[in-house]
Amino acid sequence: MALKFVDELDLEDKKVLARFDFNVPLSPEGKITDTTRIDLALPTIKFILEAGCDKLILMSHLGRPKGEVKKEFSLEPVATYLADQLGEDVVLTESATDRGIKTLLELNETKIVLLENLRFHKEETANDHEFAKLLASYGDVYINDAFGTAHRKHASTYEINAFFKGNAAGGFLLKKEIDALSKIINKPEKPFIAITGGAKVSDKIKIIESLLVSVDSLIVGGAMAYPFLKAKGYKVGKSLCSDDDVELAKKLLMHQYASKILLPVDHIVSDSVEGNPETINDVNIPEDKMGLDIGPETLAVFCNKIDGAKTLLWNGPMGLFENAHYSKGTLGIAQAMSTDTGYTLVGGGDSVAAVKKSGLASKMNHVSTGGGASLEYIESGSLPGIQALKFGIN
Ligand code: AMP
Repeated sequence: MALKFVDELDLEDKKVLARFDFNVPLSPEGKITDTTRIDLALPTIKFILEAGCDKLILMSHLGRPKGEVKKEFSLEPVATYLADQLGEDVVLTESATDRGIKTLLELNETKIVLLENLRFHKEETANDHEFAKLLASYGDVYINDAFGTAHRKHASTYEINAFFKGNAAGGFLLKKEIDALSKIINKPEKPFIAITGGAKVSDKIKIIESLLVSVDSLIVGGAMAYPFLKAKGYKVGKSLCSDDDVELAKKLLMHQYASKILLPVDHIVSDSVEGNPETINDVNIPEDKMGLDIGPETLAVFCNKIDGAKTLLWNGPMGLFENAHYSKGTLGIAQAMSTDTGYTLVGGGDSVAAVKKSGLASKMNHVSTGGGASLEYIESGSLPGIQALKFGIN
């Protein structure tokens, strides 16, 4: 059974209930600081409106209010931005369970309704059946375009599929993400090089294990590299490196394809996160220093591997890139990927922030909107939210 997409459903005169990922970053004053996630939802929203729907009921979460109403996580800035982009009123409800919603949906003058933050209700993340049933009662048709939350079994992404058999479909962003990730999991063109970085091995152990089988080389940078170096007997000084991660790294180094793992050979270090940068031309890091970026020799080795690759997957920065002293490795990888002629996919999270910072995001073939979701998709070949959309649930 193939997954249906929004352009395969009849939306005319229908009440269309659509789940998006409007989880955008906000400034302390409540201004949206990066509208990417909303902008990427616009093609699906516009398509639904142009298909002649009766009403469009939008749903999303924002931040982690943990089941409580917290004003700072209101979707109000999203409603304002959407109204601006669409040139139409967007009515924000008091809450997703407001008794007035049904009446609102009968009024002629209301076309677009945005339900207030779903995570103001603990039932959302608890995948509660009754909550999903109430949400489902607002629409005739269900569209899911929230790739960034498709790895979660939540009421609005998972349980809700119990109520829309044959009347559910993915949005265009979901389609774009699935098409891009399929290039990585279904016979990636070789050489296939994966670059992983960031801070914690435990978060990425499963993907490393599954990637080791299909990649030609697996580059490990960032703080993730230190547990591997320590596991190999090198000194890592004061670098971020938990004992648990060293144990995980030891296990990975015993993998039958462990020889594909490529680690740093030099480092940029400092006394502390705020300290001055210093280059160490050695794999070992002195006892009183912490590694904060890959060194120039390492960057050259990594870029050499990247050069000529036919498929490149990147997840996680090469160092503390938020600090300009320690961003050379990360920006260097972004640069090398942007000039490679192979297929380039940046897999969400901090590496997306890094490619945006480098101004090279548009040079990548695909920049995923979901960090955890894209990693889980590569590991498992699908996601709970996508499976439920495809097959429904009982
Ligand atoms: P992750 O969420 O696991 O992808 O980790 C991303 C975070 O790891 C970013 O905030 C980076 O600044 C941080 N990071 C990467 N390398 C280092 C390092 N060598 N030392 C400290 N933090 C690092």
